[in-house]
Amino acid sequence: MIRYVDMLRRDAKMFPPLLTSVQPGASRPFVSTDAVDRASDEYARLVLDAGARISLSAYDKGSLCEDIICAVRQSTSRLVDRHTADMIGNTLLDALHRSSSFLSAIAFGIVNGHARVGEISYRNQYEMNDECAERYGDIQSLTLSDIHNFVPDHSCICPISEAAEDSGGRPFVSFGVAPDEQSIEFPSWQEGLIHEVIHHVTGGSDPHQDAEFRLGPVEIIARKVADEMGWQIPHFAGYAASEREAHLRRRDLSALCQSAERYEGDPSDFFERLDVLSNGTLASPFTDEIVGATPTPSNSTSGVSTHWQSHGQCPSVESLHLDHRPPYIFHFRG
Ligand SMILES: [Zn+2]
Repeated sequence: MIRYVDMLRRDAKMFPPLLTSVQPGASRPFVSTDAVDRASDEYARLVLDAGARISLSAYDKGSLCEDIICAVRQSTSRLVDRHTADMIGNTLLDALHRSSSFLSAIAFGIVNGHARVGEISYRNQYEMNDECAERYGDIQSLTLSDIHNFVPDHSCICPISEAAEDSGGRPFVSFGVAPDEQSIEFPSWQEGLIHEVIHHVTGGSDPHQDAEFRLGPVEIIARKVADEMGWQIPHFAGYAASEREAHLRRRDLSALCQSAERYEGDPSDFFERLDVLSNGTLASPFTDEIVGATPTPSNSTSGVSTHWQSHGQCPSVESLHLDHRPPYIFHFRG
């Protein structure tokens, strides 16, 4: 089982090197004997250079969009709220349309046998530290007042941020709930989501040692995507920089507070759902479907993406209108 853990205080897992290089002029890169450490910053350049030489057809891109939509839709019983589902879908689709680096990373992954972006499902899983569990009980016992009183550097609850595989070998991303679109935390949340997806599609790892003061290939690519997308995020010199960790703690706690405040039902239902999801159990899916959802067969000619076809009804990408400006059109609500 592959597991890329981004949780604070957890050690990054080491991965064997991937043997990959690019042959100039070749339509597809192929494997060489040059060992490249997937946790090295050099790996980011290799991924982006190799991916840029792979051209995906319009059909392929359309199929990737359909796959992403389906993957998000099928994740709703593992996500806290519709807003989070919407924002995951929009962030990925927007990046697919506007970020050449994101497209390069995805193309690299397809050719080199890594996870395909449309195969990745999404979860909101959180955990409480033991000390807090004694004081507050489990997640479902928390209240709005509790989480508002938490201090980011000593928050009792934090999201499990990781790119991993389930027991069946299917890739998933666990990440925090989405903050409000207009919040200062939103661009950072988008970049963090892309970071986890980049783990899967490139097979890249974070720096092995916390003491290494560098970003690592996954964060380098994610920040390049953010730059191309115009997401305003603070600069950090290293993956394990204390400033970066403090920023992530503030962002994640603030996002959780925003999500709890957005919740339209009884706040206790919010924490109950969060508890269920955090235990790895399926919650009830959102009942509304995507606007204009109509099943349409994929016409992909290169076999890049057929995942959605085995998962039943999914929308035609033509039924979606993406204008890349909020408010987004892609919604899970009716
Ligand atoms: Zn990571």
